[in-house]
Amino acid sequence: MIPSPLRLRLDAAALVANWRLLDGLSGRAACGAAVKANGYGLGARGVVERLAAAGCRDFFVATWSEARALADLGVGLSVLHGIRAEDLADRPPQLRPVLASAEQVRRWREAGGGNCDVMVDTGMNRLGVSPEQVAQGLLDGLAIDTLLSHLVSAEEDVPLNGRQRDRFAALAGRTSARRMSLANSAGIALGPDYHFDLTRPGIALYGGRYRDGHAGIRQVATPEAQILQRRRVAAGETIGYNATFTAPRDMEVAILNLGYADGYLRCFSDRGRGRAGDAVLPVLGRISMDLTALSVDAAPHLSEGDWVAIDYDLPETAAVSGLSQYELLTGLGARFDRIWE
Ligand SMILES: *Cc1c(COP(=O)(O)O)cnc(C)c1O
Repeated sequence: MIPSPLRLRLDAAALVANWRLLDGLSGRAACGAAVKANGYGLGARGVVERLAAAGCRDFFVATWSEARALADLGVGLSVLHGIRAEDLADRPPQLRPVLASAEQVRRWREAGGGNCDVMVDTGMNRLGVSPEQVAQGLLDGLAIDTLLSHLVSAEEDVPLNGRQRDRFAALAGRTSARRMSLANSAGIALGPDYHFDLTRPGIALYGGRYRDGHAGIRQVATPEAQILQRRRVAAGETIGYNATFTAPRDMEVAILNLGYADGYLRCFSDRGRGRAGDAVLPVLGRISMDLTALSVDAAPHLSEGDWVAIDYDLPETAAVSGLSQYELLTGLGARFDRIWE
């Protein structure tokens, strides 16, 4: 296969170390993995294979098409968006819906039931049945593997965290569920009261850090782009669309095969940074759809065909760009070769 001029270097050891750290933080609870949105942009299959080999047993995707694409790996997969009528046909049996409304519960029963998960809404007001519906018997007789709820603001210290935990804990023993699961990445760091039987980290597996407990989390994904052209730009000339950058002196500039269509969005214009060894290479001017200009005055040896790494530590890059750590990963496009090492 001819390599793309754009690649995402993926650190398998860091991914596994992050899962182990989160598994340790989860105490007696098992630690699963959210792999929706193509494993947060890294490639769901590569993530699931590596985490399953490390001992992870519970994986979460958003949709049935995501689940079907992973079904042959033989791991436990839960579909967070529940089940539509369209999803009932032709369903690999090891995939479980996370039923999230009375309508879905009815649909599941009518289709013959079977092992399922259920989402209870304790404050998000997004997906889930209410604790009142549970109390009224909506789930009676259903074969539930895991009862879930989802935290609204786990990365902040707000009273809603404790309220959600208490509402969820009150459901213990009220259903047939074998396990209960509340915490995402940030929720795990809220402590043992939030762990229940199973935790469901996503972003922290992939290098996201939101709380002190995440201090040991390592970067997993690093975009790298090839230099298509190196040029000298004379003092007073401008670079790129709308001439937002004017060279203050004669400058050495590299044009990278990377642009906003790859998820390197316009907010990185004049703010992003590349790196070659120890040399820091600032972005110059607007990010184009497929191209980015970098200053390479600090890297005289770089030439056409060389690769440049893009600074992508998630908390730092979120601060630089104004994007969330989640958006930084899930926006990475299809033109990247995803390379595990
Ligand atoms: C995405 C998701 C997670 C993982 O959340 P992170 O904040 O990425 O750790 C867990 N549970 C549910 C229901 C989700 O949708």
